[in-house]
Amino acid sequence: MAGSSDVIVVGGGLVGSAIAYGLAREGAKVTILDEGDVAFRASRGNFGLVWVQGKGDGMPDYASWTRRSKDLYQGFADGMLEHNGRDIELKQEGGLELCLGEDAYRENEDEIRRMHNQPGVGENDRRMIDAEEVRKIMPLVGPEVTGASFSPHDGHVNPLYLLHSLHAAARQLGARYVSGGKTLSIARDGDGFRAETEAGVFRSGKLVIAAGIANKWLAPMVGLDIPVNPNRGHILITERMQPVMPMLLVNARQTADGTINFGNSHEDAGYDTSISPAKLGEIARNVVRYFPILKNVRVVRTWSALRVMAPDGFPIYRESETAPGAFSISCHSGVTLAAAHALDLAPTILNGGFNDRFAAFSPERFNVSPAA
Ligand SMILES: Cc1cc2nc3c(=O)[nH]c(=O)nc-3n(C[C@H](O)[C@H](O)[C@H](O)COP(=O)(O)OP(=O)(O)OC[C@H]3O[C@@H](n4cnc5c(N)ncnc54)[C@H](O)[C@@H]3O)c2cc1C
Repeated sequence: MAGSSDVIVVGGGLVGSAIAYGLAREGAKVTILDEGDVAFRASRGNFGLVWVQGKGDGMPDYASWTRRSKDLYQGFADGMLEHNGRDIELKQEGGLELCLGEDAYRENEDEIRRMHNQPGVGENDRRMIDAEEVRKIMPLVGPEVTGASFSPHDGHVNPLYLLHSLHAAARQLGARYVSGGKTLSIARDGDGFRAETEAGVFRSGKLVIAAGIANKWLAPMVGLDIPVNPNRGHILITERMQPVMPMLLVNARQTADGTINFGNSHEDAGYDTSISPAKLGEIARNVVRYFPILKNVRVVRTWSALRVMAPDGFPIYRESETAPGAFSISCHSGVTLAAAHALDLAPTILNGGFNDRFAAFSPERFNVSPAA
């Protein structure tokens, strides 16, 4: 037996690591089993937004959960620093979704109206601003920009520093991180659980499955059906530039070192993580419509990665009914939700009442019957 602990967390990406850190803060003895570099890992390929506006259109609980995470974020960042983490470069100064053309402007306006009518979305302080106001904030936008929606709650972090910080802080709190620990099977074992992995066999009282897209095949081993699928996104990074974007955008941000990161593409490409030159061209042409000044700028790096996507885009959280103590956690916005996962979801895993608290995020909303 390679070891036993209070909780095993399967998956050391942003979701598993945030939960592991949160559990370790509560004093639990935690083991993180992580497959390693061969796995699909959205946590190492994402955009770094801590984004609030528009989240939860159609699911008010997701709107308030996102907002809760945003509110917890500064304390979460400070807490990791205290526990040997690193500065994750958190900035929460607001963000814009720029609109190209009148239809896009109306779509954002309608979304604000719809969300205003949903309970639990927080203050109604996301608002439309016209093209003139946008140009006061962003003088370099192109003539096609008709306005934007603005929210004071949006922000961003350095996503790789976030992952590194979670690992370092969790370790300092006593968590054990096992790399090369691809989990092959999990099962009930007495009053706890047993995980067979490529790094040996591990035992624990509770089990959290947070292995991104792999939850789809791991969760049925404890009686849960989790219908997540890959969704490919591309990101492009430019050479360093003078300040062009004084404010964060949903699809572009200028980092402290002057590079501009852009891309917000969504594609159903199965498990294919190769770069599509056609998609890159499409993204780049679109960005130039927002910022004509970028027409001749050099793109120095690109990559694609697979999102962890539920059919409706919202999180799926569930404790197994047939194997109580086993939890499956999947979501798209693992950067945005990291603070809530660490400081709120993790304590709920330890203290009970999980399914009542997170009923809105149950996979039963897809009418999926429990696995046999
Ligand atoms: C292009 C792109 C842009 C994005 N932009 C943002 C953004 O701006 N803001 C935001 O909030 N979110 C964003 N996301 C989403 C965010 O990155 C994901 O929600 C988050 O990374 C999911 O984390 P995860 O830990 O669930 O999954 P992953 O990052 O995929 O990690 C899964 C982990 O599980 C491990 N694993 C897999 N199988 C096993 C196994 N059998 N045994 C043990 N370990 C296993 C892997 O090694 C891996 O470490 C973006 C995603 C992409 C792809």
